[in-house]
Amino acid sequence: MEVIRSIGGMQHTSDRLRCEGKRIAVVPTMGYLHEGHLTLIRAARKAADVVITTVFVNPAQFGPHEDFERYPRNPEGDISLASNAGSDFVFLPDRSDVYPEGYRTYVNVETLSEVLEGKFRPGHFRGVATIVAKLFAITKPHVAVFGQKDAQQVVVVRRMVQDLNFDIELIVVPTVREADGLALSSRNVYLSPSQRTEAPVLYRSLLLAERRLAEPGALPSDVIKEMSSLISNTSSGVIDYISVADANTLEELHRIEKGRTILVSLAVRFGTTRLIDNILVSP
Ligand code: AMP
Repeated sequence: MEVIRSIGGMQHTSDRLRCEGKRIAVVPTMGYLHEGHLTLIRAARKAADVVITTVFVNPAQFGPHEDFERYPRNPEGDISLASNAGSDFVFLPDRSDVYPEGYRTYVNVETLSEVLEGKFRPGHFRGVATIVAKLFAITKPHVAVFGQKDAQQVVVVRRMVQDLNFDIELIVVPTVREADGLALSSRNVYLSPSQRTEAPVLYRSLLLAERRLAEPGALPSDVIKEMSSLISNTSSGVIDYISVADANTLEELHRIEKGRTILVSLAVRFGTTRLIDNILVSP
């Protein structure tokens, strides 16, 4: 396992690997790795000859009042976890190299960036698309692995890959959960013990939606109301949104049509900790 910190060093290594005919997979992360990230690394391991895990807390995807400064970090722990999961390289760039003085270029995936998370986190997906495009230019992968946990991120990145003609295959890994259903997230460490006990209601509400949407004639608005009641009645969570949308276009659905894949997604705040989760449903 090799740790690379310089952008030039990473590009040089990727060029060499490509010359040797190696298939390169990249796993972009913000670090503080957990079993969700490690599942992505293992999927990358299966899909390619060489795995590069990137660890970078990307300031461009945080709003001015968000948790960039206090986002949990543990680079040394990340290096050993990534290595044990089968990563060949960990790319750990410095903020000042990624966004040097005079940096001016951003990628904006229109419309898809403005709904759901984008409404509550303006500029978030501009930051995401920009760093992912930069990491693609730096690591030169054949394959990139993302988690379904961040469903809208997958939709935005997929669109960017198509629109900007990146010759990169995307692999999406299902959400890894705790035994009680809570989706693993680096932000779960912020939860107080009582919030941690309440938080699995998010997944229970998604399972409720899955059941209801399978019933003929189910209306998204009714399903959203039921989910909302379940969350409000059994937890201190404050709901930012609950959405039933087309999984590809992210358009809100007012009725259910057979054959469409539906993304049920939500964001709920427990104190200052904002959790997101989702489920894909195909009635
Ligand atoms: P992050 O470090 O939060 O930016 O996440 C890096 C990658 O790991 C993203 O593609 C996430 O979707 C993915 N990821 C985070 N949590 C999970 C999880 N619980 N299950 C699957 N993938 C995840």
